[in-house]
Amino acid sequence: MWADLVLMDGNVLTMGSSQPSAEAVAVKKDRIVKVGTNEEIRRWIGDDTKVIDLQGRTVVPGLTDSHIHVGDFGKFLMWIDLKDADSIQEMQRRIRERAQKISKERWIIGSGWDQARFAEKRYPNRRDLDEASPDNPVILYHQCGRVCVVNSKALELAGVTKETRAPSGGKIEKAAESGEPTGILREKATDLVWKTIPEPSEEEVMEGASLACKKIVEAGVTSIHWIVTSSTEVQIIQRLRAENKLPLHVYTIIPANLLDQTNSSGSGDNNDRNLGVKVFVDGSLAAHTAALREPYSDDPESKGQLLYSQHEMDALVAKAHKANFRLVMHAMGDQAINITLTAIEKALREAPRKDHRYRLEHASVLNSELIQRIKELGMMVSVQPKCVLSEFSVWSAVERLGSERARWLYPLKTLIKEGIRVAGGSDCPMEPLSPLQGIQAAVTRQFFPEEQITVDEALRMYTINAAYASFEETVKGSIEEGKLADLTVLSGDPTAVPPSKIGDIKVKMTIIGGKVVYQK
Ligand SMILES: [Zn+2]
Repeated sequence: MWADLVLMDGNVLTMGSSQPSAEAVAVKKDRIVKVGTNEEIRRWIGDDTKVIDLQGRTVVPGLTDSHIHVGDFGKFLMWIDLKDADSIQEMQRRIRERAQKISKERWIIGSGWDQARFAEKRYPNRRDLDEASPDNPVILYHQCGRVCVVNSKALELAGVTKETRAPSGGKIEKAAESGEPTGILREKATDLVWKTIPEPSEEEVMEGASLACKKIVEAGVTSIHWIVTSSTEVQIIQRLRAENKLPLHVYTIIPANLLDQTNSSGSGDNNDRNLGVKVFVDGSLAAHTAALREPYSDDPESKGQLLYSQHEMDALVAKAHKANFRLVMHAMGDQAINITLTAIEKALREAPRKDHRYRLEHASVLNSELIQRIKELGMMVSVQPKCVLSEFSVWSAVERLGSERARWLYPLKTLIKEGIRVAGGSDCPMEPLSPLQGIQAAVTRQFFPEEQITVDEALRMYTINAAYASFEETVKGSIEEGKLADLTVLSGDPTAVPPSKIGDIKVKMTIIGGKVVYQK
């Protein structure tokens, strides 16, 4: 029996229990048939076998992103990126390029410009944009996100004229002589145009999602847990799958408001998996809306915001539990985590289920009591390690929570020591997509470094643990015989390079189900 594909002369990190490393892998159809030494694998090479010489490169199991907003990521990718535009002329060139590709009524949206970088040394205005796009409405956000420039078509559609008065907290810039809007809108006035932009059509969402999937595969990711925001997105996943346009494995997580119209099973593309259901229990620490037991240290008036009472939470959790959905609970503050655990404790007492794999998403502010309860319930925790960095650098967590609570922000090492399974994700597009950057963040965190984890532990978050979260650890998550041939080839070995360089490792090849879907 010959293999269809073999990878030779590599540094294979299998993440498997019996054989942690190997030199080569043989693949037949979509499965791994043999993992071993070059010598052992050479016997699998026949006349029709495709042979890839890895030249010593590192291979890891195909990576999984267990928390990604593909719809939003797709929308974002459809925007024009102006972060590196160094002139208004360049900005115009990119608008023209986009306008040529799309129909006239469609909006051109962009972000990231900064007049300080422009060769012209001035703000762009509506005339600059009109020259590039007289027909398509255009809105381009400044890199700060609170200022935008729009063209005449956009002003017309929004009904903004020289008579329009700015909403309070906003400013419509007007030319000194004519009094006509210049196209620059500030703060609340940006909403005047933003709110007139129609929701993207199903075709546009499809286009964005396809683009997103392409980027995801380029990042070495072979499986995603797609956090869905609408029923349109559910249909899009089904359409992409039916039209064979999904290059990677998708585990669907639907929002709780779609519970009633959805069946709990049958979303799988490989086996009969259950569907995740995401419940927002609170908001975010950054916005002071994560629900805390005690007030915020930098806002003693506020404890954040629970989106459900205990009673409502109990009912919702019991309903999803009985319908056999997999609970995926967004809970950041300790009070949100507390009411979530209480509801799950009750649901499991009433209708026990051993292997539920219910998840807490983020689980940012923990403490030893909550950790013990998570452990006793047999729950998983899904963390986006890049957020750990953001929480500490964008604003000071110590200031916001006090040092006592900040100590227990994303305590990855403690969770792992307690035997709690932790899965890794990106929260893209809010945070960067790259799992390697996520691994670096988890390994190198500087605040409370006692919670740093090892590269091996971080790799597990994105491989075998993520596979476990979607009940797929028997087919994915490690390079072992019989499993799906999902493999990621890297330019460097994350376990060997200095930890601060892990994020710089490049993805050289992504193989999904034995097919090379990306190659650089
Ligand atoms: Zn998210």
